[in-house]
Amino acid sequence: MKGGFVGKEYLLSLLRSLSESFGPSGFEDAVRGIVVKEVESVADSVWVDSMGNLFALKRGRKGGASLMLTAHMDEIGFIVTHVDNRGFLRVAPIGGQSPRVIQGQRVLVRARDGSLVKGVIGSKPPHVMRPDEAKQCPEVRDVYVDVGAASAQEVERMGITVGNPVAFERGLERLNEDTVVGKAFDDRAGLAAVIGAFKAVEDQAVDVYLVATVQEEVGLRGAQVAAYKISPSAAIGVDTTIAADVPGTREGLGNEVRRRASHKGRRHPSVILWAHGQQVPEGEA
Ligand SMILES: [Zn+2]
Repeated sequence: MKGGFVGKEYLLSLLRSLSESFGPSGFEDAVRGIVVKEVESVADSVWVDSMGNLFALKRGRKGGASLMLTAHMDEIGFIVTHVDNRGFLRVAPIGGQSPRVIQGQRVLVRARDGSLVKGVIGSKPPHVMRPDEAKQCPEVRDVYVDVGAASAQEVERMGITVGNPVAFERGLERLNEDTVVGKAFDDRAGLAAVIGAFKAVEDQAVDVYLVATVQEEVGLRGAQVAAYKISPSAAIGVDTTIAADVPGTREGLGNEVRRRASHKGRRHPSVILWAHGQQVPEGEA
């Protein structure tokens, strides 16, 4: 099968297109489209299951054993729960949202026809808050999305209704040679890494699967189904964790490798989360 070296500039442009794509949990179509385009020319077969997990296979020389490379396609976001008379959208979180960082963020709302409508997250101005309110961080239920509409009817005409997904709008920017900022690096960075590894593999003994999963942010749903379907001999899952090289964290810890992953009380002994770095503390979740 085709393979070979995958360079930094390729990975950067892949990360850019993955990161800038719209894909809250359950709405991963655009991201999946990019992954398919990247791997279909190098894989022996590519298929999608009924949940939306994407599988690609490069057959090995010997077969028998198999390795699964996996990362999730979805990002955290919101879902529209209510449209008020003045055209403001109320939302509920998809995945773990921190209300501290959502204020003033630009967002995209996916309308009924699939088009992406621009909006911004607003909340009650501090000038008109009571002193006790001003000290508290608003919850997700306290904020609204303003899409520029003046009435519920206008929102309806824009093709937006209860149940439509919302994601942050943020382009990837390069701060310097080795540093980028952007959205959804959890887990599009992991996805770029496993796509790069899958493309690079060639003439290997074992079957290698790339599995791009759905709905991780709402409870690892896609990965559980995918792992059972393939039942690989070994799996390497790449995901992000909090940065340990910023103020307020235990600086200098480097990246994190786990023999198994724990998520919301469940344990997956067959999965290793992998990252490279100078210092790699190893531990169990
Ligand atoms: Zn993740």
